[in-house]
Amino acid sequence: MKTEQSHLFYQSRQPRPFLDYGEGIYLYDVSGKRYIDGSSGAMVSNIGHSNPNVLAKMKAQMDRATFGYRLHFRTEPSEKLAAKVAGLMPEGLDRVFFVSGGSEAVETAIKLARQYAVTQGQGSRWKVISRMPSYHGATMGSLGVTGSPLFTGAFAPMFEEMPKIPAPTCYLDRDNLSEEQRGIKYAEMLREKILAEGPDSVLAFLMEPVGGASTGALVAPDSYYARVAEICREYGVLLIYDEVMTGAGRTGKFLAAEHWGITPDIVAMSKGFGAGYAPLGAVVARNDMVEALLDSGGFQHGFTYAGNPLACAAGLAVLEEMEEHDIIGNAARMGDVLKARLTGLMERYPFIGDVRGKGLLLAFELVSDRETMAVLPKDWNAHVELVELAYERGLIIYSRRTRGGKEGDHFLVCPPLIVTEAQIDEIMEILCDALDAFAEKHALPVLE
Ligand code: PMP
Repeated sequence: MKTEQSHLFYQSRQPRPFLDYGEGIYLYDVSGKRYIDGSSGAMVSNIGHSNPNVLAKMKAQMDRATFGYRLHFRTEPSEKLAAKVAGLMPEGLDRVFFVSGGSEAVETAIKLARQYAVTQGQGSRWKVISRMPSYHGATMGSLGVTGSPLFTGAFAPMFEEMPKIPAPTCYLDRDNLSEEQRGIKYAEMLREKILAEGPDSVLAFLMEPVGGASTGALVAPDSYYARVAEICREYGVLLIYDEVMTGAGRTGKFLAAEHWGITPDIVAMSKGFGAGYAPLGAVVARNDMVEALLDSGGFQHGFTYAGNPLACAAGLAVLEEMEEHDIIGNAARMGDVLKARLTGLMERYPFIGDVRGKGLLLAFELVSDRETMAVLPKDWNAHVELVELAYERGLIIYSRRTRGGKEGDHFLVCPPLIVTEAQIDEIMEILCDALDAFAEKHALPVLE
């Protein structure tokens, strides 16, 4: 680098140190400073950094072929990975389409649903209902289903805004309903929306089974999942689970859908699937849907890098590593430990309003009043400030200021799924130190 000025540009001007190397749950910058990757990047690095077995398998593939175009060759890594993924899916979901990221996975899922409907003589169906807030990607099609004015606002005239229903933010509700009733209440909003839009026009319902960055690890009551699936069946609406963040073990099961015994019609995955070793995602669909597409002349869709052998070799190696070391089991066990520790923080810090999530997709939310869940003043910029306090101290966490269509500061604590109990102690120590500093700056109470 000749100058300090970088030629790259991303979302912010925030200068960041140069990354030197990664090892397990740790990242090191070029000055030698160590960071705990407490958010696995953006909930990506599920098996940790620089796993030697994965690197060796990628190297072996690199020595043979890094690219073979899918219309010219079948490749062993892509065939093997597809078979492995199909084996890990709920019964009936066994056809796999590879992509290179989450937005591509969501676009693909939507286009697959649409083309399937056309083959079934249901060309009137094109609307994809999703939730507010939600995040499904940055490309124009995925923006149409993303419920986040921050990300969609500037581009709104340029894509078709799809219908939204409220995400099940039950923790904000102050009513006398039971959890189960609340789940049903939110699920029934889907029925109302389908009826309002006209059932013959509705193609699919798209949801994150456990919310990601948009809602901060939001989990709905159990009753929600089953009722949503029932409503979709009743109206012939396809159910698409966006498991880009939740898939590949993040919530303590391979798919989050397994927690509720749901078999969606289509699943989109990415992030932890390539686990940071390669840009990789997958869309998995029902066999009969794919057969209908192939019978009608094929899926009119594809990306150049889809299913490239190097990315697939990396994905296969990641899944093998997860199996060999029961990494998903560890995610479930360590998720319980970390969630209990985060919940424990509520005793010391009255300004933590909620702790939620499943497996190692966990979040806490900061508030000015736990009873009313009133948010902190916007100009504190808490979602940035606390992240920086932790970063300075060597802990990376992930945050957003969105909540139930309004604003609220939540923080995702999502270390790699290989994290140990001793490492959770390290995370908690730095997090408490950062929370103490935050409290001191804003004269917030800390209870000893
Ligand atoms: N869906 C969900 C649920 C996500 O969390 C994300 C990424 N945050 C995406 C889609 C888009 O993925 P990508 O950034 O890889 O395009």
